[in-house]
Amino acid sequence: MLIDCPACKKKISDKANTCPHCGFAVGADDADAILEREKRKRYDQHQSLQTQSFVAVLVFITGFGLLYWGAPEVGGTQHSIGMLMLFLGFLWYVVNRARIAFIKAKKFKF
Ligand SMILES: [Zn+2]
Repeated sequence: MLIDCPACKKKISDKANTCPHCGFAVGADDADAILEREKRKRYDQHQSLQTQSFVAVLVFITGFGLLYWGAPEVGGTQHSIGMLMLFLGFLWYVVNRARIAFIKAKKFKF
């Protein structure tokens, strides 16, 4: 029977201890354990990215608040920090959304 190598995804025999393509030690860990670990890693990564997205939104909102709270002088410290947070929060959020979409796009095939 042919299975996918957990490392390089090429077809290998389930009897092989090491992958002939990339040398991955298949026998050292069974495929289910590897798959399970990969799934958990992906889940953790996804959770972490969602937390980061949330923080990014908070940064963005704080930046927005700084721009308007107390009507700060344009070019002053508060206004500059507000602009910076607005920009960084937005950028961070977009990057996180892109990474989440990327993780979802390469879901595991069974
Ligand atoms: Zn391989």
